[in-house]
Amino acid sequence: MAPKDVVVLGAGFAGLETAFQLAAQLTDDQVATTVVSDRDDFLFKPNTIYLPFGAAEAPLHIPLAKAMARRDIRHRIGTVTDVDVAGGRVHLTTGLPLHYDRLVIATGAAMAPEEVPGLAEHAYQVWTSGQLHRLGEALQWAVADARYGRQQRVVFLVPPGNKCAGPLYELAFMLDTWLRRRDVRHQVEVVFRTYEHTFVQAFGPRLHEVVTAEFADRDVDGRTGAVVTKVGESELLFEGGTEEYYDLLVAFPPYVASVRYEGLAADDRGFLTCDPASRALVDHPEIFAPGDAGDFPVKQAFLAFLQADAAAGAIAAEIRGTAPADAFSPTGMCVMEMFDKATFAQVPLIETGDPSAPVAVNQDQADAYRVGTSPIWRLGKKALGLYLPMRFRRGLPFHSGLGWRAMEVALRVGARTLAR
Ligand SMILES: Cc1cc2nc3c(=O)[nH]c(=O)nc-3n(C[C@H](O)[C@H](O)[C@H](O)COP(=O)(O)OP(=O)(O)OC[C@H]3O[C@@H](n4cnc5c(N)ncnc54)[C@H](O)[C@@H]3O)c2cc1C
Repeated sequence: MAPKDVVVLGAGFAGLETAFQLAAQLTDDQVATTVVSDRDDFLFKPNTIYLPFGAAEAPLHIPLAKAMARRDIRHRIGTVTDVDVAGGRVHLTTGLPLHYDRLVIATGAAMAPEEVPGLAEHAYQVWTSGQLHRLGEALQWAVADARYGRQQRVVFLVPPGNKCAGPLYELAFMLDTWLRRRDVRHQVEVVFRTYEHTFVQAFGPRLHEVVTAEFADRDVDGRTGAVVTKVGESELLFEGGTEEYYDLLVAFPPYVASVRYEGLAADDRGFLTCDPASRALVDHPEIFAPGDAGDFPVKQAFLAFLQADAAAGAIAAEIRGTAPADAFSPTGMCVMEMFDKATFAQVPLIETGDPSAPVAVNQDQADAYRVGTSPIWRLGKKALGLYLPMRFRRGLPFHSGLGWRAMEVALRVGARTLAR
């Protein structure tokens, strides 16, 4: 039998984890994998939050050529335009279409700042590394102005439609510590406004409590239920008519799918409709959509890995003719950086079907819900930032091998002793 052609679109967390899991689980006689992406490297996005505070960008880019060659994976650099499901082909902007037997769509998400009038023009946005560098320049000016005695108001803003607010909270906490270390915190008012019902809503009531207490300790003026409707040059308009001014606005815009695939079932933002367990598309079981490209309501790298593992497991089981592998069981995990300490949160999730609170803590696994704050969690974040790029550099999946098992044990011990 000829090997099955598996084409993976996207070389982010979900695409690479799927491709490397397939390489680890199947032989070359069973599968021929091609990864398509519009760049030749992997960007470790979670650590781009350090860029505004002077970190170097180069270590966050992992070149992929060697990793792909090690696992006999073909890597085609190109931009995907659409999928011909009837013909089993993917179209790119250049070159011939690619045939697939199984397709993995992991092209992730994009930002839609235009959904809020004025946001694109006036806010520093949190998404690309270029935008985070620009924010860094603005923060340097803010410090210089503060040293000249100018009082300023920095507003962090999460508008409706954003599906991964955590990094913006990290930036607010990091800014607070960074300004204190420069002795100018008293000159800068730090404000956080979010449309969410609770702070970092997807992570449940315990993280809300921790963030509320941290905001109070750090003199950050935080407010939930603040739905922005318009952004002006120096003012924000909220639902209900409230107006607030800002000197510097930092926003994490609404999410949409990075590619809209004609003819595939998707929600109003273009996120592909998946079977909750395998991440196969409900209308095309030969196509999978792990990670931000799919319709799971929370967009997170850790969740992208779990979805990729489920998708790769399902494809591998089918090719081998064995029983289906483990299903996607959503557990969110984050380590929220604050520079002086960090907050760890692990939350088993369940989808609710309620658009205003699309996930809740899964009470059947309540013991796995853990939140804790300690300077030691900063080491955990650093360890993840070293371990993951090392795995991808070698063409190995994140969730496997001795390294991951050791990390899992460390996380379990940490979650028991440094979180409750
Ligand atoms: C600043 C920031 C901080 C974050 N911090 C965390 C964190 O601490 N923890 C956490 O769990 N998550 C974090 N996230 C979220 C996390 O980065 C995403 O959830 C994760 O990247 C999703 O992985 P993905 O593989 O689905 O998509 P992506 O990582 O976005 O990968 C998509 C891939 O598809 C490619 N692509 C897109 N369109 C096309 C096209 N048309 N043709 C070809 N290729 C294409 C891209 O180049 C990329 O290779 C953060 C996000 C940001 C922006």
